[in-house]
Amino acid sequence: MSAALAPALHGLTILERGWLSSNNVLLHGDDSRAWLVDSSHVLHGAQTVALLRQALRGATLAGIVNTHLHSDHCGGNAAVQRAFGCTVTVPPGQWAAVQDWDEQALSYRPTGQRCERFVADACLRPGQSLEVGGRRWQALAAPGHDPHSIVLFDDREGVLISADALWENGFGVVFPELEGEGAFDDVAQVLDLIESLDARWVIPGHGAPFSDAPGALQRARRRLDGFRTNPRRHSRHAIKVLVKYHLLEVQQQPWVDFLAWFTEVDLCRVIWHSLGRPDGTMPAFAERLVGELMAIGVLSRRDALLINA
Ligand SMILES: [Zn+2]
Repeated sequence: MSAALAPALHGLTILERGWLSSNNVLLHGDDSRAWLVDSSHVLHGAQTVALLRQALRGATLAGIVNTHLHSDHCGGNAAVQRAFGCTVTVPPGQWAAVQDWDEQALSYRPTGQRCERFVADACLRPGQSLEVGGRRWQALAAPGHDPHSIVLFDDREGVLISADALWENGFGVVFPELEGEGAFDDVAQVLDLIESLDARWVIPGHGAPFSDAPGALQRARRRLDGFRTNPRRHSRHAIKVLVKYHLLEVQQQPWVDFLAWFTEVDLCRVIWHSLGRPDGTMPAFAERLVGELMAIGVLSRRDALLINA
């Protein structure tokens, strides 16, 4: 059954956005007060506000709940706050970092990504619930991709908002692993937790909603096994994700500016070192990575480096 027709998804508007911007899930309330799960990337702020205005159909937006604070999930918080005057609820582990706007702890500096500062009003702790439109969304801890991430589960309808913990084909980069903090076990435990929920529908952070959770779990576990067996494969995958995401942010960039970004971003340096400094220098490594991304059609290089939309 398509997601649009599924009774379990009634009362939800799922705005599927892409890779630079996470999906947005609008939870419609009985009392004309809706809640938004995740707000996309800062560059798409105006589009997010326009899509929300249309989807709200005159209802009030009470608040945003962020599953985690990566730039593709909360970059629109500030624009949405300005447009609708709503509150923002964040996972508890990053409350202090938001208050201080600590771009190191919030990952924007080490990843070389952009996010507009916003104000957080409350936390949703694992075990707590958000009640909207007759549904009770329980927050569950989902470390791995991000140590502070939560996912939201509506037990009665069997709907899981899985953020980047589970996609139809895989899961998000396991960022703590890149800095030497083991987190593959966390990913495995979260996949076990998701399996135990017996979800009938999964609304991922990226990609369309899907109903075959067992199939997705099987693919995710296979992928995780591959990374565990060969962590270098995960690191190489991660650095390509960082490069691709950066090009999605800037769309195109002169090669010298791209190299300046690549060689200055902490996480790129950390990964290059952890891989044993392949190609001798970071610029040479960048050449090779970009060549590999061009070979699969993700990037092009003419006067500048371009992302192929
Ligand atoms: Zn993420």
